[in-house]
Amino acid sequence: MLKIENLHASIDGKQILNGLNLTIPAGEIHAIMGPNGSGKSTLSYVLAGREGYEVTEGSVTFGDLDLLAMEPEERAVAGVFLAFQAPVELPGVGNANFLRTALNAVRRAKGEAEIDAIQFLKLARARMKVLNMPDDMLKRPVNVGFSGGEKKRNEMLQMALLSPKLALLDETDSGLDIDALKLVSDTVNSLRGPAFSALVITHYQRLLNHIVPDRVHVLSAGRIVKSGGPELAQELEASGYGAIQAAAA
Ligand code: ADP
Ligand code: MG
Ligand code: MG
Repeated sequence: MLKIENLHASIDGKQILNGLNLTIPAGEIHAIMGPNGSGKSTLSYVLAGREGYEVTEGSVTFGDLDLLAMEPEERAVAGVFLAFQAPVELPGVGNANFLRTALNAVRRAKGEAEIDAIQFLKLARARMKVLNMPDDMLKRPVNVGFSGGEKKRNEMLQMALLSPKLALLDETDSGLDIDALKLVSDTVNSLRGPAFSALVITHYQRLLNHIVPDRVHVLSAGRIVKSGGPELAQELEASGYGAIQAAAA
């Protein structure tokens, strides 16, 4: 499904990713952990196609697609969901229209019929109930004035509706409270299945108590320096990153 080979990337002339290799088979959830500054967010930005990141070597394929050659919107339509894209605020764009447009772009790409506003509302409301979101969040402009928790809910609503083939979640160090943690993990777990893969990027082990990954990888200085099963996350929680970094240096 996702195959990253020998990925090197830089920003502003500073080399951040240094030969990263990672394969995520269909149906698996992998976690990337690592100390601050190891390049976790850089990896998610490169996979998302964010401007300013230069790939200097290596390749990323998604199925048989050359992901790095695709525009960010093309990646989304192909079934890649990038969790950091949703929190953009779009004044003047109704949330329901925004979500339905995104969903229909994906449906068209799959050769499925588009859904109309009425069908969409049915789907969205059912999901929103599970996510504990008030109905009026569909009428408001996208993310405008949404609290942090509401943005996270809206992002998870979008992910659940799109039902992506690959979800990339960079849960930045700063702050998932316990409710947000449960929201993210419940949504990811509800999507689990043979055609769904996810890359969960996190500084802390606690998220991985809720989303139990198939594999855990440790990123240090822009490379994967250790891989293991879910128990690796527990070990890291107990021992910290120091020993692994020292051994890899
Ligand atoms: P992580 O998410 O693992 O904490 P990041 O990918 O955010 O790490 O950052 C990796 C390294 O890249 C850090 O040393 C950071 O200071 C550096 N970095 C990030 N953005 C820039 C930038 N725009 N210019 C120069 N260095 C950057
Ligand atoms: Mg950081
Ligand atoms: Mg980060």
